[in-house]
Amino acid sequence: MAEKVIVIADSITVGELAEKLNLPVTDLIGELFKNGIVSTINQRIDFETASIIIEELGLKDVELERKSTTSLATRKVHELSDLAVTRPPIVAVMGHVDHGKTTLLDAILETKVAEGEAGGITQYISAYQTVRNGRSITLLDTPGHEAFAALRQHGAALTDVVIIVVAADDGVMPQTVEAIRFAQMANAKIVVAINKMDKEGANPGLVKGQLAEHGVIPDDKVWGGDVPMVEISAKARQGIDTLLDTVLLVADIEELRADIDTPAEGLVIESHMEVGRGSVVGLLVEQGMLKPGHFLVAGTAFGKVRTMLDFAGRTLKEAGPATPVTVTGFKELPQFGDAFVIVKSEKEARSLASIARIENEKNAASTNITGADLLKMMNQQHESQNLNVIVKADVQGSLTSVVNSLKIIDTQGEIKLNIIGSGVGNISENDIRLATGQDTIVYGFNVGMSTAVKQLANRDKVQVRTFNVIYKLLDDARESMEAILAPEIVETEIGKLTVKGIFRTLKDVVIAGGEVTSGKITAGVLARVKRGKEQIAEVEVINVQRQQQEAKEVFEGEMCGLSLKTNKKLLVEEGDKLELFTRELVKRTLK
Ligand code: GDP
Repeated sequence: MAEKVIVIADSITVGELAEKLNLPVTDLIGELFKNGIVSTINQRIDFETASIIIEELGLKDVELERKSTTSLATRKVHELSDLAVTRPPIVAVMGHVDHGKTTLLDAILETKVAEGEAGGITQYISAYQTVRNGRSITLLDTPGHEAFAALRQHGAALTDVVIIVVAADDGVMPQTVEAIRFAQMANAKIVVAINKMDKEGANPGLVKGQLAEHGVIPDDKVWGGDVPMVEISAKARQGIDTLLDTVLLVADIEELRADIDTPAEGLVIESHMEVGRGSVVGLLVEQGMLKPGHFLVAGTAFGKVRTMLDFAGRTLKEAGPATPVTVTGFKELPQFGDAFVIVKSEKEARSLASIARIENEKNAASTNITGADLLKMMNQQHESQNLNVIVKADVQGSLTSVVNSLKIIDTQGEIKLNIIGSGVGNISENDIRLATGQDTIVYGFNVGMSTAVKQLANRDKVQVRTFNVIYKLLDDARESMEAILAPEIVETEIGKLTVKGIFRTLKDVVIAGGEVTSGKITAGVLARVKRGKEQIAEVEVINVQRQQQEAKEVFEGEMCGLSLKTNKKLLVEEGDKLELFTRELVKRTLK
């Protein structure tokens, strides 16, 4: 029986949950991060995520209970009307690197997207649609688990089905397991695509067995489970139709429905600025019909749909549930993962956006800083060192993820990470100029730079580091900060000795005899020489002898001879006490 029942609504901020659990907020943020969720103290996590984290933390005596509220801050769950219609399933393709996600997406989309239709429009939006037997399927090319997690944090049960791609010749790998966990956390149905069946070493039986070990039990006769598994070759374009049919079958069982006769709402799945077009925003419609001319609000951003294109760059007059679109017309960039809603007028849009802004500011200001914290911060201020960084990323979603992740590196108050610039796009001359002479690292995530920019960086000795795996970027930032941190001095007490007699006093060495009264003495350690309460010197023990024989160590209760080295003339006397200790410089690490 759980001893402690915590009642929370559909979602809770990380800070509030930490308080209720009586845990340091950093522990919670760390645990979330281990689960691929990048969070800050004010971030909301949903009930399911909170439950899983509590389980992972091993808090067996805590039980969560959901109290549904429709607070302003949480997103209202749309209640379906009787008029709701069947909608396309939203499908995420996940799996271990190199198991064939991209090839599979290509295979699915290749024959369906008529040639030339994309019309040279840059494909930023990582959501697509395909049609099978007259029915649409929406595919999300999850840019990374972080981004996926960010979407989920905003209360979106976004994905209905996760296709987990497993290479038949490689089997279940770490990211396969992550994908399984994600599907489970997202409450999504799993369909496994056992890929690369054309390859020599393909062993679907082995893959199934490995999956079963992770609780994903194949629905075939042998296993009798409930997870459909389809053998395919993405490269040879085999089994693709069967896979799509299976996805539709799963969708049918789920009875996915949405309202179309309701004001449009959905999620921001992409956002960036483009020269000549202004804000370009990817939206996934969840309910209703979105049309050009509609007034939109998403978080603190608002605007009017000016143009609306489908995933392939075709102009759309309306977009219904589960349709990914790209719109222009937002006056500023909304945040990736924000929910959008339609309102009647620009005035209403503007006022909702400003309410959101005030809420945000209130949230930011409510992070408690106690008087003691403040004192600590003030004391540390003069010693604190900074690491300045500029972050560039390919799309708004990954930029948000990188920036948020950098912000939560626990620097233990010693180092300040200043993000002095961030933006979407390749590393530019401007970035290098900004970084020059400032001891600033320019980080690129999924972006590159031109030769001219590279030359400028070399000339001005600006460090530019590019990554395409977020964890590696974070590790690098952490290491860069650790390098700035002064090493910690760690002193370890090892024993005590009482001087029983002085044999010789040389220029800088004293040879004495003594008794070890506790612990031990070894050559090479340091000693504080105490006379009564007063410390008269700090010396180095350069030699230890037991019965005139050099000894490595001498223990409590034993007599020994010892040579003490000092840099000033030292008059050690009988009766002095030595406190023996070691002193090490320990490179400090950040969590
Ligand atoms: P991703 O990292 O999961 O997106 O994997 P990719 O789609 O980039 O595929 C990784 C490699 O596996 C590429 O060289 C593909 O050509 C290859 N590949 C993907 N699917 C198949 C397949 O069905 N059969 C074979 N033989 N190779 C495949």
